[in-house]
Amino acid sequence: MTEAAASSSQSATKTTYGVPKPKPAYYPHPGSPLYADKELYTKIADASKTLLETHTCEPRSAIAVKIPMGSVFRITTPKGPQVCDLNIWNLHNPRERFWAARTRQLHSAHVSTFDRLWSNLPYLRPLVTITADTLSARHDEWGGRVHDTLGTRCDPYVDKLISGEDNDLHCHSNLTRAVMPYGLTEFDVHDVLNVFQVTGLNEHDQYFMEACPATTEDYFELFAEQDLLVAISACPGGDLSQWGWGESEGDDSKMIDCCRPLAIEVYNLDDKDEVLKNWTAPKVVDYKGNHGLKGPAK
Ligand SMILES: [Zn+2]
Repeated sequence: MTEAAASSSQSATKTTYGVPKPKPAYYPHPGSPLYADKELYTKIADASKTLLETHTCEPRSAIAVKIPMGSVFRITTPKGPQVCDLNIWNLHNPRERFWAARTRQLHSAHVSTFDRLWSNLPYLRPLVTITADTLSARHDEWGGRVHDTLGTRCDPYVDKLISGEDNDLHCHSNLTRAVMPYGLTEFDVHDVLNVFQVTGLNEHDQYFMEACPATTEDYFELFAEQDLLVAISACPGGDLSQWGWGESEGDDSKMIDCCRPLAIEVYNLDDKDEVLKNWTAPKVVDYKGNHGLKGPAK
């Protein structure tokens, strides 16, 4: 047994039971409410747009930005490779927020153009639809792909558990500070989409991370299906080429050198009425069963 095998509960040995190759649990079919109308979202991606605002997120910090429904925003890496931890809320009701696990099931563990980022229960509707992704072709020999819903934000609790240090610039803490002016707290920070981050599962089913491939030209573009509060954190792991536990001590000192800023660019569609004439804002799922609970006896 190898050392790696010994450190995982999962065997690397493949067993053949002769079962047919399974199909995806949520297979796309025309007209499904789960899948974006490619014609419509291609039209949005190709439409003339005006840049309204650019918000810079400094290294090892986070920003929170209001994004109006019906607009388009891009997350960029203006100075080169940098991993981004993304949280999204309904601006008017922060209990409705991004649900990474269901998005992973409905689309895939790594997301790209035409995938949608879904909200949690009891809402279950798209918060955004991805309209462009310059890194979408990324798929390496180890199974690494970009923009993952597998992992979550780095946080000071797991760092303390592992390293014994108190470090304050993890994505969880950065996001917490960024959303406080909007009346939100640590408890509103949720599992992220790791934008520009290459990850996968190895032969022992263990999560791995690779160096970020993003350049100054890359961007990840999303259409706002609702009025949103969007927060991004420039991970203290930087481009993940030198990651480790701890922030600046000992062997981790190189990690600071690979930390760069991120930015959010907000665009207005120039001819919104024409481009969005076949779009309607997604509604919450109209489940009326009340989980089988009965009302008062009559
Ligand atoms: Zn992080």
